Amino acid sequence: MKILLSLYLLFAVILTQFFAAYFFSKGRTSYRKVFTALVLCISVYLFGYLMIINTGNLQEMIFWNQFQYLGLSFIPTLWLLVALLYTKTIYTLRNRVVILLFCIPVITFFLRLTNSWHHLFYVNWEMREILGYFSLYLERGPWYYVNISYTILCLLLTIIVYSLVYLKERVVHTRYHFLIFLFASLLPLIGVVLVIVAFNVWAVDYAALVMPISLLIIGFGILKYDFLEVRTLARETIFENNFSGMVILGPERRVVDYNTAAKKFFDALNISLDNYSIEHLLKEEPELLEIFKSDVVQDFSLVIDGEQRFFEIDAVPLGDSNNGSKRMLKSIRDVTEERKIQEKLKILATIDSLSGLYNRLEFMNLAKPEFASSKRHKEKLSLLMMDLYNFKNINDTFGHAVGDEVIREMGRAILSSFRKSDIAGRIGGEEFALLLKNTSLEEATKAAEQFREAIARKKVLYEKQEISFTVSIGVAAFYSHLDNSSNIGDLLKKADDALYKAKAKGRNCVVVYMEPLNGSKN
Ligand code: GH3
Ligand code: MG
Repeated sequence: MKILLSLYLLFAVILTQFFAAYFFSKGRTSYRKVFTALVLCISVYLFGYLMIINTGNLQEMIFWNQFQYLGLSFIPTLWLLVALLYTKTIYTLRNRVVILLFCIPVITFFLRLTNSWHHLFYVNWEMREILGYFSLYLERGPWYYVNISYTILCLLLTIIVYSLVYLKERVVHTRYHFLIFLFASLLPLIGVVLVIVAFNVWAVDYAALVMPISLLIIGFGILKYDFLEVRTLARETIFENNFSGMVILGPERRVVDYNTAAKKFFDALNISLDNYSIEHLLKEEPELLEIFKSDVVQDFSLVIDGEQRFFEIDAVPLGDSNNGSKRMLKSIRDVTEERKIQEKLKILATIDSLSGLYNRLEFMNLAKPEFASSKRHKEKLSLLMMDLYNFKNINDTFGHAVGDEVIREMGRAILSSFRKSDIAGRIGGEEFALLLKNTSLEEATKAAEQFREAIARKKVLYEKQEISFTVSIGVAAFYSHLDNSSNIGDLLKKADDALYKAKAKGRNCVVVYMEPLNGSKN
């Protein structure tokens, strides 16, 4: 019996050492250290037990029992921590959590170490022979029961954690992983209960006996599914290497984790993402703070390496958003290139490439609301319609390229002669329209006259030849107090009528639209 038990324990110690080395070398995940520590503690515990049953000396037995507590004290806490980290119930080990969980194990270790002074852990001990080998019989003290209760509590919590994620997980394959962990955590619990109620019957540490089986089950899971590694590693890799910056905010909006892209974003603001609340980190950046507190997508722009970059900052709630906890993932997506393309497309769709003025569609799109606004606010509004004189002739005489240059020159002249707030469009081949905001008919006519003169003075160079051109302009105005029923189409029609008159009059002139008297116009 002693040989069998010794061989079993020896095998178990070798197994745990192998596991510890395996996880230390292979694992890269956040709970790697905790799992390695757990396996090492189990190894120490089992080795101590192996030594106890192989010595016939009470003093040595006491020494190896003490040695066992070097690992044993911490096993339940580590078992629970693995569960909490693996299931992502917690993301990182914070000081507060560590102090809370390791408080009792540390006290246990020191009380066991100093037991001969106070006998709080063991009241008495003796050596008895049973089934052909010597065993250590210990009369339990009060702290022993505190420790064993804490052990049971940790193992129960572990089982609850695995059960909850098992019930919540939708992927069948992943549920199976949690079931394996759940089963592997049940065995030590049964072992501990057996130690409490039946140690004296066989003098066997049942917990020590079941622990290698527990580890083997986990080992089976690792080798078959590699579940400690692949899924978490894949998720961590995607998180870490994502082009979008990602910041995980825990309760009280504390920064729990972040990736490289997020670090780059905050580096540009000279902010280092420590484990503080976002309110504390962004106290110098109120606009960004509001965005980080918000639940909806928002835009933010920032100069990085001398270039203005645009970001879309979104929020994804983590876990159950109804339970009041504010855990969320903030993603920071660089949309600069998209914005640039959008801007280019918008220019292509709205601006006439030759004149640099709005095209007909965009002119109408902008003119309509402007007209409506003037009508609403009872403001004056004027419209100029312009047409190049004998443009076809310029094309025919000097070629299309010269015609194009004349249109370009017209565009430049319009943009430089009128206010930025005025809306200028090329609405036909050589026809231009200009909507003058808050401008009376008199002011518009004056501006039109000045412009006509300016154009008449302009020259376009072609093969050292100076080509001049002229423009005819029709002017119309809208007065809401006189005519509240018309629309932008009516105003365009009036200016067009005036332009027609101007051309008929002999070109290179300005004609003002007059409201018809006795039913006839002008
Ligand atoms: P009018 O004095 O009566 O206004 O006569 P016009 O020659 O100015 O006008 P008409 O309507 O007879 O001819 C307009 C010409 O403008 C015909 C067309 O080939 C030319 N055109 C239209 N778009 C462009 C363009 O983008 N570039 C060039 N070079 N010519 C254009
Ligand atoms: Mg013309």
